[in-house]
Amino acid sequence: MRISQKRIFGLLILFQLTIGLIAQSRCSFDEHWARQKKTNPRFSSQIDAVESRIQGRIQNLSPFESRSSFQIPVVFHVLWNTTEENLSEEAISTQLAILNQDFSGQNPDLNLIPNRFKSVAAAVGIEFCLASTAPDGTETNGITRTRTFVDSLSIQQVYYSSGEGQDAWDPDQYLNIWIAKLENSLVGFGSYPGQNIPAEDGVVIDYRVFGINDHPRLNLGRTLTHEVGHYLGLFHPWGDGIFNSNCAGDDRVPDTPLQSSTFSGQCPDSQNSLPESCGTADMYMNFMNYTNDLCLHMFTQGQRLRMLASLLEMRPGLLTSQACTGISQPNPAKGLVNIGPNPTRGSLYISSFLQGTSSVQLEVYNVNGQVVFQSAWDSLDRYFSYTLDMASWANGFYYLRLDIAGEELVRKLIKY
Ligand SMILES: [Zn+2]
Repeated sequence: MRISQKRIFGLLILFQLTIGLIAQSRCSFDEHWARQKKTNPRFSSQIDAVESRIQGRIQNLSPFESRSSFQIPVVFHVLWNTTEENLSEEAISTQLAILNQDFSGQNPDLNLIPNRFKSVAAAVGIEFCLASTAPDGTETNGITRTRTFVDSLSIQQVYYSSGEGQDAWDPDQYLNIWIAKLENSLVGFGSYPGQNIPAEDGVVIDYRVFGINDHPRLNLGRTLTHEVGHYLGLFHPWGDGIFNSNCAGDDRVPDTPLQSSTFSGQCPDSQNSLPESCGTADMYMNFMNYTNDLCLHMFTQGQRLRMLASLLEMRPGLLTSQACTGISQPNPAKGLVNIGPNPTRGSLYISSFLQGTSSVQLEVYNVNGQVVFQSAWDSLDRYFSYTLDMASWANGFYYLRLDIAGEELVRKLIKY
């Protein structure tokens, strides 16, 4: 059986049919940029000053390139109203593992980069660690949780404890990532270096596109990869701030081709031929595109240099921060299974990235040790997902056993 592949294929067809209905922006970077440009008379000169610092650092980057990895301490601020929005530590660690894979060239779908672009693909060499020390010196798990009393929040609301949000931890020492239910179909925003005031510096992301989830297009945790790209000085491939379809915009990175499409809601078939615009093949699989998560695979060498330069020049405090000292890093291979919601009323969503081609076995036992559900999948390619329907099951405890390529994982489930 290849249920997850069928499911993904079915979803892809569904996407093609519903592109018109769900073509909201992947992130609100361009809108924010346009608003700033209109309302802040000093905006252009500020951005020019940042650009000249980034370019200057790129020119002088060679001494730093031998350093294999830069480490950025991260704090996640979970803003929640319903229990579903109060994401588990497991969901957060899964997302962090995906982020680290994507920034280290360890993502399992790296082999799907079309031949045309393989030579420019880069392992960025930035590692993200959960903070173990809070700003007041106390121990932390790198996650804050704040109960909100509204249905959804604007991006502006998430930044302040005096409103419905959570104040940033010192943005010179931590990458602040706020997770909330955002209003107006916004999925995320990453602040460009030197652009936001410190209290609003970091990344905001909707909980529905966080980690491995059941969003129809943004389900594999790539929204955070994309937004952290902005935070580290990257633009969308179609231009430095505002979308235009006439090939006039550029992202200030030499090895990403110009393009006139955002690829929003799309997953182009590259096996036959690459889509083209502006006279060249489009790098739709670049993390800074709006392409569906399943078809995003890479940063380029040029983007790597721009991100390292932005980090060293504009965010140097992160590299000397002691916020992660003493914590052991999560093992990406083990952190990539997502099971939830738990407790559940009915549907239990189970998913995982796989290392290459793998087999998966799933069994569920009741408290008497009797098998109440059993299934197995062979030759899954890179990704497993299955929705277990427990709606008709008796309420109570169960034990789920998942075997992925010989590695066993057991979880206690609660049906209510
Ligand atoms: Zn963006």
